[in-house]
Amino acid sequence: MVSKKQIERRIRELRSILSQKGMDAALITKRENYIYMSNFTGTFANLLITHDKAILVTDFRYTEQAKEQAQLYDVVQYQGNLNVTLNDLLTSNNVKVLGFEDDYLTFKAYDDLSKKLNVDKLVPLEGAIELLRLIKDSAEIELIKEAVRVADEAFSHVLKFIKPGVTESEIAAEIEYYLKKNGARGPSFDTIVASGWRASLPHGVASDKVVELGDAVTMDFGAIYNEYCSDMTRTVFVGKPKEELKKIYNIVLEAQQAGIFGAVSGLTGREIDKIARDIISDAGYGENFGHSLGHGVGIEIHEDPRLSQQGTVKMRNGMVVTIEPGIYVSGLGGVRIEDMIVINDGKPMVLTSSKKDMIIL
Ligand code: ZN
Ligand code: ZN
Repeated sequence: MVSKKQIERRIRELRSILSQKGMDAALITKRENYIYMSNFTGTFANLLITHDKAILVTDFRYTEQAKEQAQLYDVVQYQGNLNVTLNDLLTSNNVKVLGFEDDYLTFKAYDDLSKKLNVDKLVPLEGAIELLRLIKDSAEIELIKEAVRVADEAFSHVLKFIKPGVTESEIAAEIEYYLKKNGARGPSFDTIVASGWRASLPHGVASDKVVELGDAVTMDFGAIYNEYCSDMTRTVFVGKPKEELKKIYNIVLEAQQAGIFGAVSGLTGREIDKIARDIISDAGYGENFGHSLGHGVGIEIHEDPRLSQQGTVKMRNGMVVTIEPGIYVSGLGGVRIEDMIVINDGKPMVLTSSKKDMIIL
């Protein structure tokens, strides 16, 4: 939970966007967005934010919780028909032009709103809240650090558990159990454990494959802690790795470190992606790095800005992103190393603390 002051600031910033766009109010239903705007963490809410009111509409299940968490909001409990309640609020607050989350609503939900709400015009918010969420404030960075810390701890814990004979699924279960036991709500996505030949699958969700001597084991995982996500990847070796895997490990590590140092204010996601990608290409593995360098992390595990060949957003203080290059060679295996960083004073500050020297178990 962030402080009332932070929520107040976010509401104020949204209101100034509403003014710029000529809107009387915004209707917010995407969970990540209403958590950010109100502190309410239940699974159902409609926020109606006008120029002078902040209203949270929810149902019987969540009224108590909403009053406790969303302290700056008038909590309205609806019964029966949500649109009737929304229309009452829109009319009594004189809302004629209403902003909606165009990149979130389904076509059907939009169709419903446009037919049933008593407003003159529905106007797309065009990611207004996501834009605010790009820059993490100090309260968010503290929460993200907690999510990162528990994932770091899970990594050192699981190293004792990895040996020939255990399955990838068992390793994933051990990681997720540790996260939950230590305060996380759960993993921030399905834990990836890919060993041996499967390590060449960049997103190989843990399978029944047994870890064998000589395998590279890539683990990509994270925690949700107080609604904020973390994301990290390490590749470790079980027994002596093949020479080519060792070589690949060092190239990925070099690219990863260059990507981190390159993530400074003013550079675009595309420019930072290129710094790391050039190192891998120059080493002859360009074709084997088929995904982007990184992504923003916050209430969502993948959010803006993107560090990819298409990334046009420039880095700014308070952005939290991953740096995660990888090389995947079919039949041999793969290596990926991922840290989370925050741009602080124009420079990258690494949040992930797990070591990156080659680990041979
Ligand atoms: Zn990851
Ligand atoms: Zn990631």
